[in-house]
Amino acid sequence: MTQEWHPDYLWSDGKLVPWDQATIHLTQAHWSAIGAVFEGIKAYKNPQTGELYVFRLKEHLRRLGQSIKMAGLKPVWSGAELERAVLEVLRANNRRDDTYIQPVAYPVGPGRAFSRADEVRTGLYITLRPFESHLLTDYRINVRVSSWVRIPDHVMPPRIKAIPNYWNSRLATREAQADGYDGAIILNTTGKVAEGPGACLFIIRDGVAITPPVTASILESITRATLIILLREVLGVPVIEREVDRTELYVCDEAFFCGTAAEVTPVASVDRIPVGDGQIGPVTRRLQQVYHDVIRGIDARFSEWRTPVGVARPAVAGD
Ligand code: PMP
Repeated sequence: MTQEWHPDYLWSDGKLVPWDQATIHLTQAHWSAIGAVFEGIKAYKNPQTGELYVFRLKEHLRRLGQSIKMAGLKPVWSGAELERAVLEVLRANNRRDDTYIQPVAYPVGPGRAFSRADEVRTGLYITLRPFESHLLTDYRINVRVSSWVRIPDHVMPPRIKAIPNYWNSRLATREAQADGYDGAIILNTTGKVAEGPGACLFIIRDGVAITPPVTASILESITRATLIILLREVLGVPVIEREVDRTELYVCDEAFFCGTAAEVTPVASVDRIPVGDGQIGPVTRRLQQVYHDVIRGIDARFSEWRTPVGVARPAVAGD
C-alpha cells in the first residue's frame, strides 16, 4: 500500500507536533468527531513572485469562531493567534505550492455523546495538504438533483461547519456516484435549491447571477460572498440572492458550484439535461479568470483578502 502524503507537522493546541505524535485515544475518537467543527482554507502561489497567499484567512477564522460558539465549544484561541498558527504550520512544512489548510476544533472529555460543558476541553489542530487547482481547465461536472433533502436549520444547521453535517453530504454524493453522476444538488425542506454536498451554487439567467439566500439551508460560503463581489464589481454582472426552483436548473444559461475546494466548478448538466449547450459559459469563464487572478495576487486588487506567508523567493537578476 502506498503511504498517503502527509505534512511533517501539525499545529496542535499551541505547538507544532510531528505527524506521528498527533494522536488521540481510540475510545475518544468518535465522541470528539460528533462535536467537531472545522474550516477549509486555501493558500495559492503567485506564479511570478513565488509568494504563497492564504485567501480570506480572517473570514475563515471568524466563521470557525462562529462554529465553535454554536457548537458549544470553548474559544481557547483568538483569531490573531490562529492566524499566526496557520502561517506557522505552513512555514514549518516548507509549503511553497498551492495548499489546502484544515483547522479542526473538537471536544475532549469523557467518552460520551452528552458530556457536560465543564467536563470537556476544546482541542484544536491544523493540518494541511497539497491540491491542484482546476480553474481555467476544461473541468466540468454532471450532477443530479438528490433524493436526499438538505438538513434544515432546525434539525442540523448547515450554518455550523460541523463534521456530522457531512453525513447528509455523503448520502447525496454516494447516491449520485452510484447512478453515474459526478455530484449532486440538494434541495431544502421547502423543495427549493439549497447547495451541493460541499459547495454553494449559482445559476446565470439572461445575464443575471442568481444564488439561494443564506437562509436556504446552506453553509454561509466565503467563496459565495467573494464571487458576489467579483461578479458585481469586476464583471458588472447583477447578482440576486433568492429562492431557486429545481426547474430553473434546466432552463438556466450557466450554472456553477463555488467553494474553497470547488473554486468555480462549471456544471455541464443536471439530471442529464444540458446546462446551456453543456460547455463552460461566458460568465463562468470570465469569473474563473478573475477569481484565479485575485486568489494568486496576479490581480493586485482586493489585497485585504490575501495574507502572504512570506515564502517569496528573492528577485534574481534577469527575472
Ligand atoms: N457548502 C458546504 C456544505 C461546504 O462544505 C462548503 C465548503 N466549505 C461550501 C458550501 C463552500 O464554502 P466556502 O466557500 O466557505 O468554502
